[in-house]
Amino acid sequence: MHIDILTLFPEMFPGYLNESILKRAQAAGLLHVSLHNLRDYASGKHRVTDEPPYGGGGGMVLKPGPIFAAVESLLLRLRSGQASNLQSQNEKRLEIGDWRLPLILLTPQGRPFTQQVAQELTQHDRLLLLCGRYEGVDERVRQHLVTDEISIGDFVLTGGELAAMVLVDAVARLLPGVLGAEDAAEEDSHATGLLEGPHYTRPETFRNWSVPEVLRSGHAANIARWRREQALRRTWQRRPNLLLTAELSEADRWFLGKLAQEASER
Ligand code: SAM
Repeated sequence: MHIDILTLFPEMFPGYLNESILKRAQAAGLLHVSLHNLRDYASGKHRVTDEPPYGGGGGMVLKPGPIFAAVESLLLRLRSGQASNLQSQNEKRLEIGDWRLPLILLTPQGRPFTQQVAQELTQHDRLLLLCGRYEGVDERVRQHLVTDEISIGDFVLTGGELAAMVLVDAVARLLPGVLGAEDAAEEDSHATGLLEGPHYTRPETFRNWSVPEVLRSGHAANIARWRREQALRRTWQRRPNLLLTAELSEADRWFLGKLAQEASER
Protein backbone atom coordinates (compact mmCIF):
# COMPACT_ATOMS: atom_id res chain seq x y z
CA MET A 1 0.00 0.00 0.00
CA HIS A 2 1.12 3.53 -0.76
CA ILE A 3 0.05 6.34 1.59
CA ASP A 4 0.55 9.99 0.65
CA ILE A 5 0.37 12.45 3.53
CA LEU A 6 -0.27 16.12 2.85
CA THR A 7 0.84 18.24 5.76
CA LEU A 8 2.43 21.52 6.78
CA PHE A 9 4.78 19.58 9.07
CA PRO A 10 6.31 16.59 7.25
CA GLU A 11 9.23 16.51 9.67
CA MET A 12 6.88 15.25 12.40
CA PHE A 13 6.59 11.81 10.77
CA PRO A 14 9.99 10.13 10.28
CA GLY A 15 10.62 9.37 13.96
CA TYR A 16 7.61 7.12 14.22
CA LEU A 17 7.71 5.73 10.69
CA ASN A 18 11.35 4.73 10.89
CA GLU A 19 11.15 2.40 13.87
CA SER A 20 10.00 -1.14 14.56
CA ILE A 21 7.18 -2.72 12.53
CA LEU A 22 6.48 0.25 10.25
CA LYS A 23 10.16 0.50 9.42
CA ARG A 24 10.28 -3.20 8.56
CA ALA A 25 7.08 -2.96 6.51
CA GLN A 26 8.63 -0.20 4.41
CA ALA A 27 11.93 -2.05 4.05
CA ALA A 28 9.99 -5.10 2.83
CA GLY A 29 8.11 -3.00 0.26
CA LEU A 30 4.74 -3.65 1.89
CA LEU A 31 4.19 -0.03 2.86
CA HIS A 32 5.30 3.18 1.16
CA VAL A 33 4.70 6.54 2.77
CA SER A 34 5.26 9.78 0.84
CA LEU A 35 5.21 13.08 2.68
CA HIS A 36 4.12 16.21 0.83
CA ASN A 37 4.66 19.65 2.29
CA LEU A 38 1.63 21.85 1.56
CA ARG A 39 3.86 24.90 1.77
CA ASP A 40 5.64 23.77 -1.42
CA TYR A 41 2.36 24.31 -3.27
CA ALA A 42 1.62 27.78 -1.91
CA SER A 43 2.15 30.69 -4.27
CA GLY A 44 3.85 34.03 -3.73
CA LYS A 45 7.12 35.02 -2.16
CA HIS A 46 5.96 34.11 1.32
CA ARG A 47 4.20 30.86 0.42
CA VAL A 48 1.23 31.65 2.65
CA THR A 49 -0.84 28.58 3.47
CA ASP A 50 -3.32 30.02 5.98
CA GLU A 51 -5.34 33.17 6.44
CA PRO A 52 -7.80 34.53 9.02
CA PRO A 53 -11.41 33.33 8.67
CA TYR A 54 -14.00 35.38 6.77
CA GLY A 55 -16.51 36.82 9.20
CA GLY A 56 -13.96 37.28 11.94
CA GLY A 57 -13.20 35.09 14.90
CA GLY A 58 -9.90 33.76 16.13
CA GLY A 59 -7.42 31.42 14.53
CA MET A 60 -6.34 30.75 10.98
CA VAL A 61 -7.80 28.58 8.23
CA LEU A 62 -5.84 26.56 5.68
CA LYS A 63 -6.30 28.13 2.25
CA PRO A 64 -7.83 25.98 -0.50
CA GLY A 65 -5.25 26.90 -3.18
CA PRO A 66 -2.18 25.04 -1.82
CA ILE A 67 -4.27 21.97 -0.95
CA PHE A 68 -5.91 21.71 -4.39
CA ALA A 69 -2.51 22.37 -6.02
CA ALA A 70 -0.81 19.65 -3.95
CA VAL A 71 -3.45 17.03 -4.70
CA GLU A 72 -3.68 17.89 -8.39
CA SER A 73 0.08 17.89 -8.78
CA LEU A 74 0.34 14.50 -7.09
CA LEU A 75 -2.40 12.99 -9.23
CA LEU A 76 -0.90 14.37 -12.40
CA ARG A 77 2.47 12.87 -11.48
CA LEU A 78 0.82 9.54 -10.80
CA ARG A 79 -1.05 9.66 -14.08
CA SER A 80 2.07 10.47 -16.04
CA GLY A 81 3.44 7.06 -15.20
CA GLN A 82 5.38 7.29 -11.96
CA ALA A 83 2.85 4.89 -10.45
CA SER A 84 1.38 3.34 -13.55
CA ASN A 85 0.48 0.15 -11.66
CA LEU A 86 -2.34 2.12 -10.05
CA GLN A 87 -4.08 2.73 -13.30
CA SER A 88 -5.31 -0.84 -13.47
CA GLN A 89 -7.22 -0.90 -10.21
CA ASN A 90 -10.86 0.07 -9.95
CA GLU A 91 -11.16 1.06 -6.31
CA LYS A 92 -10.36 4.73 -6.81
CA ARG A 93 -12.43 7.53 -5.36
CA LEU A 94 -10.91 10.92 -6.10
CA GLU A 95 -11.78 11.76 -9.68
CA ILE A 96 -9.37 13.55 -11.96
CA GLY A 97 -10.67 12.75 -15.42
CA ASP A 98 -11.55 9.09 -15.25
CA TRP A 99 -9.24 8.43 -12.33
CA ARG A 100 -10.20 8.14 -8.64
CA LEU A 101 -8.42 7.83 -5.28
CA PRO A 102 -9.60 8.17 -1.67
CA LEU A 103 -8.56 11.51 -0.18
CA ILE A 104 -9.17 11.39 3.56
CA LEU A 105 -9.37 14.54 5.64
CA LEU A 106 -8.44 13.99 9.30
CA THR A 107 -10.97 15.98 11.31
CA PRO A 108 -12.73 15.71 14.66
CA GLN A 109 -15.96 16.02 12.64
CA GLY A 110 -15.31 12.88 10.57
CA ARG A 111 -16.70 9.38 10.87
CA PRO A 112 -15.22 7.57 13.88
CA PHE A 113 -12.07 5.57 13.18
CA THR A 114 -12.53 1.94 14.25
CA GLN A 115 -10.87 -1.38 13.54
CA GLN A 116 -13.56 -1.99 10.91
CA VAL A 117 -12.67 1.28 9.15
CA ALA A 118 -8.97 0.36 9.29
CA GLN A 119 -9.84 -3.00 7.71
CA GLU A 120 -11.94 -1.28 5.05
CA LEU A 121 -9.04 1.03 4.13
CA THR A 122 -6.71 -1.93 3.52
CA GLN A 123 -8.78 -2.62 0.38
CA HIS A 124 -7.17 0.38 -1.34
CA ASP A 125 -3.76 0.30 -3.03
CA ARG A 126 -3.24 3.97 -2.33
CA LEU A 127 -4.59 6.48 0.20
CA LEU A 128 -4.13 10.25 0.39
CA LEU A 129 -4.34 11.75 3.86
CA LEU A 130 -4.85 15.45 4.43
CA CYS A 131 -3.79 16.90 7.80
CA GLY A 132 -5.58 20.03 8.96
CA ARG A 133 -4.08 22.66 11.29
CA TYR A 134 -5.26 25.73 13.18
CA GLU A 135 -9.06 26.08 12.77
CA GLY A 136 -9.03 23.48 9.99
CA VAL A 137 -9.34 23.66 6.19
CA ASP A 138 -11.40 25.98 4.00
CA GLU A 139 -14.85 24.42 3.58
CA ARG A 140 -14.45 24.23 -0.22
CA VAL A 141 -11.69 21.65 0.27
CA ARG A 142 -14.12 19.52 2.23
CA GLN A 143 -16.94 20.04 -0.25
CA HIS A 144 -15.10 19.65 -3.55
CA LEU A 145 -11.89 17.69 -2.96
CA VAL A 146 -11.93 15.26 -0.06
CA THR A 147 -13.80 11.99 -0.45
CA ASP A 148 -13.84 10.84 3.17
CA GLU A 149 -13.48 12.40 6.62
CA ILE A 150 -12.17 10.47 9.62
CA SER A 151 -11.92 11.35 13.31
CA ILE A 152 -9.73 9.40 15.71
CA GLY A 153 -11.90 10.33 18.70
CA ASP A 154 -14.10 12.90 20.36
CA PHE A 155 -11.31 15.26 21.33
CA VAL A 156 -9.45 18.00 19.49
CA LEU A 157 -5.78 17.77 18.53
CA THR A 158 -3.69 20.72 17.43
CA GLY A 159 -3.24 19.14 14.00
CA GLY A 160 -4.06 16.15 11.82
CA GLU A 161 -0.51 14.74 11.86
CA LEU A 162 -0.96 12.51 14.91
CA ALA A 163 -4.34 11.37 13.61
CA ALA A 164 -2.76 10.49 10.24
CA MET A 165 -0.03 8.56 12.02
CA VAL A 166 -2.63 6.64 14.02
CA LEU A 167 -4.42 5.74 10.82
CA VAL A 168 -1.21 4.68 9.04
CA ASP A 169 -0.21 2.49 11.99
CA ALA A 170 -3.60 0.80 12.39
CA VAL A 171 -3.99 0.15 8.66
CA ALA A 172 -0.39 -0.96 8.05
CA ARG A 173 -0.44 -3.68 10.70
CA LEU A 174 -3.43 -5.25 8.91
CA LEU A 175 -1.63 -5.52 5.57
CA PRO A 176 -0.66 -9.10 4.70
CA GLY A 177 2.90 -9.87 5.80
CA VAL A 178 3.42 -6.80 7.99
CA LEU A 179 2.99 -8.67 11.27
CA GLY A 180 4.72 -11.99 11.76
CA ALA A 181 2.46 -15.01 12.31
CA GLU A 182 3.34 -14.92 16.00
CA ASP A 183 1.71 -11.53 16.53
CA ALA A 184 -1.05 -11.72 13.95
CA ALA A 185 -3.83 -9.19 14.26
CA GLU A 186 -6.82 -11.56 14.13
CA GLU A 187 -7.06 -12.01 17.89
CA ASP A 188 -6.49 -8.35 18.77
CA SER A 189 -9.11 -6.38 20.62
CA HIS A 190 -11.87 -5.23 18.25
CA ALA A 191 -10.71 -7.51 15.42
CA THR A 192 -13.01 -10.25 16.71
CA GLY A 193 -15.65 -7.83 17.97
CA LEU A 194 -14.44 -8.49 21.56
CA LEU A 195 -11.67 -7.14 23.75
CA GLU A 196 -8.70 -9.45 23.97
CA GLY A 197 -8.03 -11.31 27.22
CA PRO A 198 -4.89 -11.01 29.40
CA HIS A 199 -1.36 -11.99 28.39
CA TYR A 200 1.45 -13.38 30.56
CA THR A 201 5.14 -13.98 29.91
CA ARG A 202 8.16 -15.12 31.90
CA PRO A 203 8.80 -15.46 34.79
CA GLU A 204 6.22 -18.05 35.79
CA THR A 205 5.99 -16.46 39.23
CA PHE A 206 6.63 -12.77 39.75
CA ARG A 207 6.47 -11.40 43.32
CA ASN A 208 4.29 -14.34 44.34
CA TRP A 209 1.84 -13.81 41.47
CA SER A 210 1.69 -16.88 39.26
CA VAL A 211 0.70 -17.36 35.65
CA PRO A 212 -2.67 -19.20 35.41
CA GLU A 213 -2.18 -22.96 35.46
CA VAL A 214 -4.06 -23.55 32.20
CA LEU A 215 -1.55 -21.47 30.21
CA ARG A 216 1.26 -23.72 31.42
CA SER A 217 -0.67 -26.93 30.73
CA GLY A 218 0.27 -27.22 27.05
CA HIS A 219 -3.34 -28.30 26.34
CA ALA A 220 -4.18 -26.29 23.21
CA ALA A 221 -7.98 -26.70 23.33
CA ASN A 222 -8.19 -25.75 27.00
CA ILE A 223 -5.96 -22.73 26.41
CA ALA A 224 -8.10 -21.60 23.47
CA ARG A 225 -11.29 -21.94 25.51
CA TRP A 226 -9.75 -20.10 28.48
CA ARG A 227 -8.65 -17.26 26.21
CA ARG A 228 -12.08 -17.01 24.66
CA GLU A 229 -13.73 -16.89 28.08
CA GLN A 230 -11.29 -14.26 29.30
CA ALA A 231 -12.07 -12.16 26.23
CA LEU A 232 -15.81 -12.54 26.90
CA ARG A 233 -15.37 -11.68 30.57
CA ARG A 234 -13.28 -8.61 29.85
CA THR A 235 -15.68 -7.37 27.18
CA TRP A 236 -18.65 -7.97 29.46
CA GLN A 237 -16.97 -6.00 32.25
CA ARG A 238 -15.55 -3.10 30.22
CA ARG A 239 -17.46 -2.75 26.94
CA PRO A 240 -20.73 -4.73 27.22
CA ASN A 241 -22.12 -2.83 24.20
CA LEU A 242 -19.68 -4.77 21.99
CA LEU A 243 -21.45 -8.02 22.87
CA LEU A 244 -24.55 -6.83 21.02
CA THR A 245 -22.78 -7.11 17.66
CA ALA A 246 -20.02 -9.70 18.32
CA GLU A 247 -20.34 -13.12 16.73
CA LEU A 248 -21.11 -15.49 19.61
CA SER A 249 -21.28 -19.28 19.70
CA GLU A 250 -23.61 -21.33 21.90
CA ALA A 251 -20.70 -21.90 24.31
CA ASP A 252 -20.05 -18.14 24.43
CA ARG A 253 -23.70 -17.44 25.25
CA TRP A 254 -23.67 -20.08 27.97
CA PHE A 255 -20.55 -18.52 29.50
CA LEU A 256 -22.05 -15.01 29.39
CA GLY A 257 -25.18 -16.40 31.10
CA LYS A 258 -22.91 -17.78 33.81
CA LEU A 259 -21.24 -14.38 34.26
CA ALA A 260 -24.64 -12.69 34.55
CA GLN A 261 -25.76 -15.24 37.12
CA GLU A 262 -22.56 -14.79 39.14
CA ALA A 263 -23.11 -11.03 39.12
CA SER A 264 -26.73 -11.33 40.27
CA GLU A 265 -25.66 -13.56 43.19
CA ARG A 266 -23.06 -11.06 44.42
N1 SAM B 1 -11.85 23.93 14.54
C1 SAM B 1 -11.91 22.52 14.28
C2 SAM B 1 -13.22 21.95 14.76
O1 SAM B 1 -13.73 22.46 15.74
O2 SAM B 1 -13.71 20.97 14.21
C3 SAM B 1 -10.74 21.79 14.95
C4 SAM B 1 -9.43 22.11 14.33
S1 SAM B 1 -8.10 21.26 15.07
C5 SAM B 1 -7.51 22.39 16.23
C6 SAM B 1 -6.85 21.29 13.85
C7 SAM B 1 -6.75 20.04 12.99
O3 SAM B 1 -6.40 18.94 13.81
C8 SAM B 1 -8.00 19.61 12.27
O4 SAM B 1 -8.19 20.31 11.07
C9 SAM B 1 -7.74 18.14 12.05
O5 SAM B 1 -6.97 17.92 10.88
C10 SAM B 1 -6.92 17.75 13.25
N2 SAM B 1 -7.70 17.05 14.29
C11 SAM B 1 -8.01 17.55 15.51
N3 SAM B 1 -8.69 16.65 16.22
C12 SAM B 1 -8.83 15.55 15.46
C13 SAM B 1 -9.46 14.31 15.65
N4 SAM B 1 -10.09 14.00 16.77
N5 SAM B 1 -9.39 13.40 14.65
C14 SAM B 1 -8.76 13.69 13.49
N6 SAM B 1 -8.15 14.87 13.25
C15 SAM B 1 -8.18 15.80 14.22
